[in-house]
Amino acid sequence: MMEGGEFAAVKILFFLMAMLAGASVRAGAEPIRVASLSTVMADLARDIGGDRVEVVEIVKPGMDPHIFEPSPGDYKTIANSRLLLASGLGFEGYLDKLRPVLEKSGVRLVVGGEVVKPIEGACEGHDHSEDHHHHGTADPHWWQSVSNVQLVARQIRDALIATDPEGQGTYEKNAAKLDARLEDLGKWVRLQIVQLPKKNRVLVTSHDALGYFAKDYGFEILPVQGISTSDQPSSQKVRDLIGRIQERGVKAIFAESIENPKVLGQITAETGAKPGGMIYADGLGSGETGTYDGMMRHNVTTIVEALK
Ligand SMILES: [Zn+2]
Repeated sequence: MMEGGEFAAVKILFFLMAMLAGASVRAGAEPIRVASLSTVMADLARDIGGDRVEVVEIVKPGMDPHIFEPSPGDYKTIANSRLLLASGLGFEGYLDKLRPVLEKSGVRLVVGGEVVKPIEGACEGHDHSEDHHHHGTADPHWWQSVSNVQLVARQIRDALIATDPEGQGTYEKNAAKLDARLEDLGKWVRLQIVQLPKKNRVLVTSHDALGYFAKDYGFEILPVQGISTSDQPSSQKVRDLIGRIQERGVKAIFAESIENPKVLGQITAETGAKPGGMIYADGLGSGETGTYDGMMRHNVTTIVEALK
């Protein structure tokens, strides 16, 4: 049995412990607000920032960043943030319009595409003229390479430290843990890819988004280009693609955005290639694909299963 005095002492001890726990989340301090135009970079910032940052996703998972334009409300949210994360390399066609707002409000801009080695986009002839943004010549989908994501994670760590020097220890510790997880992810991806015979490493895709993935892991891309809604199944472009798929014995195609079901139907009927499943090209999804790690594992598993 506990005596009264002892019991009170225990209560005080618990009270002190609770206070200390609260203090470790920084008593009274507002979190550093980070606005993000990239679902991948938002995920990295949450991992690195922990309790010290609040990530506001302007572009949310499941949105199509190809047709996104910031609203006046988004401009306000961005102006009220300390950092803005963007993919760059032309992915956000409206970024130049945002720059004066960022300068005026003292928002630090972190552009992932500035710390990776860009590769050329595979999309000669890909008709983006009606899109809200243009990919330009560099392929902006750098997150399809795990080693690029490691570079961008370091960039985000450094930007957070520059904005919030008090948090340096936290950011460095969290970034080191994240880097180790990404290193493991990169190794896992390679272990999956080696299960595929080299001759099977062909990606037939309608989206010029897998260039970095192809370069890192030795895939060839057969782009479904210039095959738009207006193309009739008889077009020469479709015939050429069917010829190439047959020649290579490709088992699956990742062409979810061929909008013309007749064309897709003709390709699958004539080649025997099956639709390979959903690949997350432009950003994160939800549920198990709601993190970068989960998205990459999903994409790689889908590709390997379909091409085996
Ligand atoms: Zn894209």
